[in-house]
Amino acid sequence: MVGVAVEGVGKSFGSTRVLQTVSLTVEPGEFVSLVGPSGCGKTTLMRIIAGLELPSSGRISIAGRDVTGIRAADRDVAMVFQNYALYPHLTIAQNLAVPLLMRRLGARERLPFMGRFDRVVARKLEAIRSEAQATADVLGIGHLMHRKPSQLSGGQRQRVALGRAIVRHPHVFLMDEPLSNLDAAMRVQMRTEIVALHRRVGACTVYVTHDQSEAMTMSDRVAVMMDGEILQFGTPEDIYTAPADLRVAAFVGSPRINVLSGRTDADGDVRVGGVRSGLRCPVPGAVSFAVRPEDLSVHRDGMAVIVEQVEYLGDSLLVHARMEQGDDRVVARLPVTDRSRVAPGQPASLRADPLKALLFGSDGRRIERAPATRLAANG
Ligand code: ATP
Repeated sequence: MVGVAVEGVGKSFGSTRVLQTVSLTVEPGEFVSLVGPSGCGKTTLMRIIAGLELPSSGRISIAGRDVTGIRAADRDVAMVFQNYALYPHLTIAQNLAVPLLMRRLGARERLPFMGRFDRVVARKLEAIRSEAQATADVLGIGHLMHRKPSQLSGGQRQRVALGRAIVRHPHVFLMDEPLSNLDAAMRVQMRTEIVALHRRVGACTVYVTHDQSEAMTMSDRVAVMMDGEILQFGTPEDIYTAPADLRVAAFVGSPRINVLSGRTDADGDVRVGGVRSGLRCPVPGAVSFAVRPEDLSVHRDGMAVIVEQVEYLGDSLLVHARMEQGDDRVVARLPVTDRSRVAPGQPASLRADPLKALLFGSDGRRIERAPATRLAANG
């Protein structure tokens, strides 16, 4: 049984089509990210899964149950947003207890002071208090229970928001850019904490972010969205090493993948910058040759470039250059030991690793290359 199934979901606001026909399955216990540039429809898809928005077409199932027409409160999902959405007038202990109070106590039992007069209510309140405390301890905020949200740092507030979601033991966690209000160092720390928490809790998680490195480092699988469509859904490694589409290739990885104009000659060899690249292509004519900065190296039989700038990063050099033939620009990440071989204003020769470089057709789709052994022999 799958955790979450999105089947053929489309969404229009008036005459604007925001989601094309999107399908996606999240396995139980899986951490899946929806990633893509601003406005691509991630939040809309998340809100449809949550039940905060109705799809124009298609269905949503959670744990095998069709929930398309079911309201958010009855879907067994918990949401965490970027703005925390904590109750400012309640303490952290009370904020964590709210979801449990709403679920376990009737309207009369929730009246103030009922715990003093009714032993059953008192017992329920005590159980809720200790569950809230245990959750807070797991998140490292157990000592802050008497504070109000305004008395916490951003990272601590986000932990409370996470705590309020996990205390309910939902079937699915939905997180929409939960780290975007935190500073860079705290974001990196919270990434690790959310992943560790996910492992511990075991519920499936759908995580929305526009930050590709967040999606790549945290997820079991990543859905790359653009213009209301999922362009590719796969493991971070698949997305990075075998992007299905040039837009996916360009979206993941920093610095960006280099996209150079190539041409398949009469023998089927792809030539880039006037030299044979070592790749063969079944499609004649123009082709996009894409290579990540770390897959370029200084090599005497490489592409002729003029170095423009060399950035020393401590563990590597980032070399910005332009091709001698054509006007493509290229960025290479080279070992620091190459420092004497690249100088601004000077020519250099860069070779793309033929086992790693990728080819894309004029429609932007990746073209399968010849098998690696053949490529290696050719290179
Ligand atoms: P961001 O990263 O900026 O939040 P996103 O990928 O989450 O972007 P959505 O918020 O899903 O994108 O929005 C997708 C598109 O739908 C945008 O063009 C947005 O303007 C539009 N949109 C979203 N909600 C509505 C609405 N209620 N009415 C009309 N248009 C909407």
